[in-house]
Amino acid sequence: MIQTNSVPNEQELQLINKYTRRPLNKDEVYIFSVVLCDNDIDRDNESFSTNALYQMKSMFLGKTGIFDHNPSAENQTARIYDCYVEQLKDKKTAYNSDYYRLVAKAYIPKCSRNNDLIISIDSGITKEVSVSCAVNNTFCSICGSDTHQNKCSHKAGKKYGNNICHTILDSITDVYEWSFVAVPAQKQAGIIKSYNKYKGDAYRMDNILELIKKGKCITLSEDDCKQINDKINKLETLANDGQVYKQDLQKSVIRLYSLDKPTIPSNIINSFVSKMDIDELKAFKNALENQNTNNTQIFYNSSKTMNSIKNNDFNI
Ligand SMILES: [Zn+2]
Repeated sequence: MIQTNSVPNEQELQLINKYTRRPLNKDEVYIFSVVLCDNDIDRDNESFSTNALYQMKSMFLGKTGIFDHNPSAENQTARIYDCYVEQLKDKKTAYNSDYYRLVAKAYIPKCSRNNDLIISIDSGITKEVSVSCAVNNTFCSICGSDTHQNKCSHKAGKKYGNNICHTILDSITDVYEWSFVAVPAQKQAGIIKSYNKYKGDAYRMDNILELIKKGKCITLSEDDCKQINDKINKLETLANDGQVYKQDLQKSVIRLYSLDKPTIPSNIINSFVSKMDIDELKAFKNALENQNTNNTQIFYNSSKTMNSIKNNDFNI
């Protein structure tokens, strides 16, 4: 939920000016607060621990907000200059704990380019944001077991006595972005989490690829880009090797088939061989080779027979 504060005070202006190229005055910026996330159970039956909220507090400082998780430069219009965790005394979470939320204060430079965004925030059209982060540890709220390491029998969303089972997200390793989500098109509203299941780069890469497969928009760090580039290079090498292997197989099949059926025109053989996949080519090659080996075998046996006859003859 976004709340507008309109004009910054002196202290806020100082915080904002840490991120600006030249000091801005209070009339040049538009400020607002936004709840990034809280410790309540979300639609994925997950909740951040309060520890996780405090960890994200410093990570979100200076992060720019984008529209609908589209990280192109012209979308990066708002920047977080202050972030804090607050408790709402009169509110409890669904699992009956004290309610905490992570609130960010952000500014937008007042300029014609940002007018529409400011109007949409003021009018309540833009009132939600979603965040994206990497989580290192996840626990079952019922038994406390690490949900990645030991799968317990508790099912998230199910009630055990008075307790709703949910996954507690703890130990945040990174936050990637926060994004305005236009209402009512809230397709991506909510929190996008990635889990460092194996706590390594390989897992993060798997995660990125999984999110891409699902069609989610994500922000990549410079290191992510390098890793994706390495992966593409490796895949290209493998694809080239595969291509060479396939071409060799095709040549072998064409050669063997032409020997076996010399009356079939080569363009017809080429045409059906080009349509075969690797498994078909391998099966075909094996069959043709076995046939030829059997022929050789027969030939060899007959010559052996011939030899033995000769030897017998000789023996006589
Ligand atoms: Zn459990």
